[in-house]
Amino acid sequence: MSYNNIDTALIHGGISIDERTGAVNIPIYQTSTYKQDGLGKMRGYEYSRTGNPTREALESLIAELEGGKDKAWGFAFGSGMAATTAVLSLFHSGDRILISSNVYGGTFRVLDKVFDHFGFTYRISDTDDPEAFEKEITDDVKAVIIESPANPLMTVTDIAKISRIAHAHGITVIVDNTFMTPYLQRPLELGADIVVHSATKYLGGHSDVVAGLAVVKDEDTAKKLAFIQNSTGGVLPPFDSFLLIRGIKTLGVRLDRHTQNVQRAAEFLKGREGVSRVYYPGLKDDPGYEVNKRQAKNGGAMISFELDEGYDIDKFFESLELVMLAESLGGVESLVCHPSTMTHASIPQEIREKVGITERLIRLSVGIEDIEDIIADIDRAIEKARTV
Ligand SMILES: *Cc1c(COP(=O)(O)O)cnc(C)c1O
Repeated sequence: MSYNNIDTALIHGGISIDERTGAVNIPIYQTSTYKQDGLGKMRGYEYSRTGNPTREALESLIAELEGGKDKAWGFAFGSGMAATTAVLSLFHSGDRILISSNVYGGTFRVLDKVFDHFGFTYRISDTDDPEAFEKEITDDVKAVIIESPANPLMTVTDIAKISRIAHAHGITVIVDNTFMTPYLQRPLELGADIVVHSATKYLGGHSDVVAGLAVVKDEDTAKKLAFIQNSTGGVLPPFDSFLLIRGIKTLGVRLDRHTQNVQRAAEFLKGREGVSRVYYPGLKDDPGYEVNKRQAKNGGAMISFELDEGYDIDKFFESLELVMLAESLGGVESLVCHPSTMTHASIPQEIREKVGITERLIRLSVGIEDIEDIIADIDRAIEKARTV
């Protein structure tokens, strides 16, 4: 098949039809095992932890979308954290991992509280400042985990520049591409070595599945990750794989609408009395605007803002009628969250404050509803939260 646009790849990429029947959707192969025709005579599958046709279709699709050179270089896991955990398992005791200063709280937590048992160390690094990043490099640093834009302050990291610096020191570059998806940004093409996703978010897109994906750039790493995936077993079930394939088909149209809506929301928040700061790399005056424009199609659809002292945060959340207060993001429905007590609560307060995740910070995942309805809801909630 030949095509040259990701919009087409979203629908026809990877293994996209069932060869045996011609079904235009890959069936849900709800099976744990496979009949063997004789000793050692398998038909390509032996046990569903090791391989399952529905999961394989998804894995080949994400590999293609992220620009992995081989369809076997994509991997699907039971959650974004399972994907990150499997990728971190490529490293060894004594290795140090650098992480962007505002990564997802769970990524910080797994390093701080789980991998520390195994002799891994980590250090928080300002990957948005390449010079500061280079100064953090010591001999034991073996990987860097980047999010761009990073959660929740939408800090932008120059993926190509950090990759060049990292590679000069033999460091593996891992990019968590959850916020952008391959529709907006393709880290492997920018120089990164491994991409991970919480597919729970935009890729799934409907807040109905928890899933993780990873794509690697070379055969050696692919073999190692396949071994880890099969050995540790955090694989994505067939039904969830089906849901993700289904979600990915509409990623392009959803993200076009999401980003159209967020632009309007950003303009509104910028001008709204009571909003002291707006973080969105799609705004021309955002510090990350230029770099983001170079490496991504647009600023994505996540936005954070701070309410002034004269507004009651609890009251704001309680007053929303349409926009829901919930963990997660990237679904068709608009969601808000309070990073300091929710997604980033596992990061110690002093680190949170140092990086700017204050108690007045609100993160908004702009959905695909009518944007004027969403804005009216937020506007009303801000008004109700006013205390002065
Ligand atoms: C949600 C999220 C994760 C974790 O993914 P799960 O699917 O919840 O395990 C990792 N990174 C980012 C940026 C996320 O938003």
